[in-house]
Amino acid sequence: HIYGPDRVNSAGTNLHINSQIEPFMQNVQQYLDNQWHAKPIIDGKELTTNEEAVFCPYDNAHQIGTVHKVSEEMALDALTIAQKNFIAWDMTPVEQRAQILEKIADVFEENEAELIALCSRDGGKTMQDGIDEVREAVDFCRFYANNARKDFGQEITLPGPTGESNHLYLQGRGVFACISPWNFPLAIFTGQVVAALVAGNTVLAKPADQTTLVAYRAVQLMHKAGVPTSVLQFVPCRGSTFGNLILSDIRVAGVCFTGSTSTAQIINRTLATRDGMLSPLIAETGGQNAMIVDSSALPEQVVADVIQSAFTSAGQRCSALRVLYVQEDVADRILEVLSGAMQELKLGDPTDLSTDIGPVIDAVSREELAGHVEQLRATGNLIAETPMPAGLEKGCYLAPTAFFINHINDLTQEWFGPILHVIKYKAKDLDKVIDQINGYGFGLTLGIHSRNESTATYIDKRARVGNVYINRNMIGATVGVQPFGGQGLSGTGPKAGGPFYLHRFATEHTRTNNT
Ligand code: NAP
Repeated sequence: HIYGPDRVNSAGTNLHINSQIEPFMQNVQQYLDNQWHAKPIIDGKELTTNEEAVFCPYDNAHQIGTVHKVSEEMALDALTIAQKNFIAWDMTPVEQRAQILEKIADVFEENEAELIALCSRDGGKTMQDGIDEVREAVDFCRFYANNARKDFGQEITLPGPTGESNHLYLQGRGVFACISPWNFPLAIFTGQVVAALVAGNTVLAKPADQTTLVAYRAVQLMHKAGVPTSVLQFVPCRGSTFGNLILSDIRVAGVCFTGSTSTAQIINRTLATRDGMLSPLIAETGGQNAMIVDSSALPEQVVADVIQSAFTSAGQRCSALRVLYVQEDVADRILEVLSGAMQELKLGDPTDLSTDIGPVIDAVSREELAGHVEQLRATGNLIAETPMPAGLEKGCYLAPTAFFINHINDLTQEWFGPILHVIKYKAKDLDKVIDQINGYGFGLTLGIHSRNESTATYIDKRARVGNVYINRNMIGATVGVQPFGGQGLSGTGPKAGGPFYLHRFATEHTRTNNT
């Protein structure tokens, strides 16, 4: 097994088991009215600057805490400290680093209720999404710990002439800058940081502006679990500040970034203009993800998987379905069932267990998405819309919608919300459909619904994407089971939660010894 004989993926809470629901909700409830106060954490000290109020995305009048962003001087200090402590950390036995990751996993599980409350209050997550968020973070810790033991724990012996020994082993690179998005405020933040750390790097962690509170609490817990304060620095600040000040500094030996393609391109340019270290960029970015449904597919299963893929987490997943290609012979039937199912979705407070769809992250995002919906609505191509219940005015809610479009190229960008675009295609045009999807340039996820195995295999082989899902939904990649990451505009290719991920954070070191 990927975790060794006695390890499995984190169980979390199963909200389908009645006896688990009440204790779970009681635990989470204790934290929902908390106030959290995030500060830069540098060399173990919590520092203060100007205080900014933080509000909840589903109740804009409800303050949930405050944030202090790092000053330029503090950020540069953090870099100096990280660089100073790199060699000692890299020389720390990997077993010790791996055990710290396993301890983080345990501490996160012990603090699951608070972390879920935080993901909800700060990131607008439903309870199910919160559970999944903690589970994924825990899985990353245990999976990378185990991988590090395998990959960094021993040297590879290489052949050589008599009297000469040759060995290859992995070393950390130096200071890694980890930059994360708001849509997986705990899981991706944690995955980046622990991968970099266990590979022997020291880390500057920069969270997304919208979800700084979650990241702050995660760092506190990581330190509590035994991550030395000298090797993990928490530097909350705006992305542009971090890019201009830190990424332009030649002391940064590597960058791990998850977010939009355009930000990855900016980071690439920043790294390229530095007159110094040639540092790699690990980038996991956006998608214009499609699903192809042919006439052999089971309509009810298709609809259940489309709803999950397009609207779970209010469509704010990089893997989410954006463009549904449905063969025209079955389109009317499938879209009728889809339309009916969309009427039943419940939009609302994410802490209410009956809620299917929570808010989008903030008012800016809501306005941008609503503008796109209005443009589509003006074309007269609405297929279905989930009803917006009364009383949600205080939050950043957007009702799920589905519209016909003519071509994937009609989409000028990745619309990061609960908006589904539908295209009908003729059976004879399947190759054109695949070419359109490949030609768009993103390459993250692709869904296929077909009971014809040779069709599914054919599409899978021709598709230029990182993750293909056949006859199921196309979200929720599990650590160690569906290593996740895209190609083309969707990223530089590493698979988070995969067996080769840690190598990207390391350099290969060869030692030849004339004995
Ligand atoms: P984003 O705007 O690109 O921001 C991501 C991170 O980059 C944030 O921490 C942001 O800081 C920072 N940033 C912004 N400008 C920067 C710069 N010039 N230099 C350095 N850092 C900078 O993306 P987002 O809106 O948070 O996240 C949504 C995007 O992430 C979507 O495109 C989604 O598809 C993608 N995503 C991809 C994956 C994957 O695995 N492929 C997973 C999740 C999400 P601020 O918050 O301060 O702006």
